[in-house]
Amino acid sequence: MTVCFTQTECLKTAIKVFLGLFIIIGSVIHPEQIHAQAKQQRKILLLTERGGQHEGFVIAALRWLDSLALVQDLKLTTINRPDGITTAFLADYDVFVQLDFPPYTWPKEAEDAFERYIESGTGGWIGFHHATLLGDFDGYPLWQWFADFMGGIRFKNYIASLATGTVWVEDQTHPVMRGVPIRFDIPDEEWYTFDRSPRPNVKVLAAVDEASYDPPSDNTMGDHPVVWTNEHMKARNVYFLMGHHGGLFRSAAFMRMFENALLWTSSHDDNEN
Ligand SMILES: [Zn+2]
Repeated sequence: MTVCFTQTECLKTAIKVFLGLFIIIGSVIHPEQIHAQAKQQRKILLLTERGGQHEGFVIAALRWLDSLALVQDLKLTTINRPDGITTAFLADYDVFVQLDFPPYTWPKEAEDAFERYIESGTGGWIGFHHATLLGDFDGYPLWQWFADFMGGIRFKNYIASLATGTVWVEDQTHPVMRGVPIRFDIPDEEWYTFDRSPRPNVKVLAAVDEASYDPPSDNTMGDHPVVWTNEHMKARNVYFLMGHHGGLFRSAAFMRMFENALLWTSSHDDNEN
């Protein structure tokens, strides 16, 4: 303990103690650490389908994600082929986003790594539209694990002429649906149909009302979920049937769901989101 006998000495001692504490605190906590503790950057892997009829959707999605990355502190990494996907590669990412890339032409090692990533909950997953083109529609064998992940479905058909449809949200309390109106229209979508509804095997978050199709279409499946999550997997995951064209990024409801899904699937904390 330091003893002081005069007012000046006491003042000097007090200043030394204060400066000492300041230096100690300053050496332990840096401003960037405070920022990092408050909010951790989320690492997003984007597997994109380039060229062809989905190019417009992918370009619009990447542009929108670039803007969102500045607001939500996202680190975006884009790949156009699944060839380099391994368990070690995936371990770096909080979320794997399939921007329309289908579940075929994947090397076996990439398939295995993806299955482990989802089953172990290493990170989350979001898939759009073409990500459920399951089966031999395009002449490729069915990836059975992926079909089961999507609720045990098989791709059947699509509305080639496109139709505007009304989507009804089924669970407004789910993190992906926060701030999303209970019903909204999605313009000019290709509305895939499957051999059966995935409902018995997944949690449905939204479904399209086929009677609302404009123009009308008889390409229907009755119960027609369009947004769902498979709660049997450790990874937080969401599939969106929408994703045919870039006009979706004029839909406030679609962008709200996409942002919600990114934040929810990239969180490893059950108390967050
Ligand atoms: Zn399409």
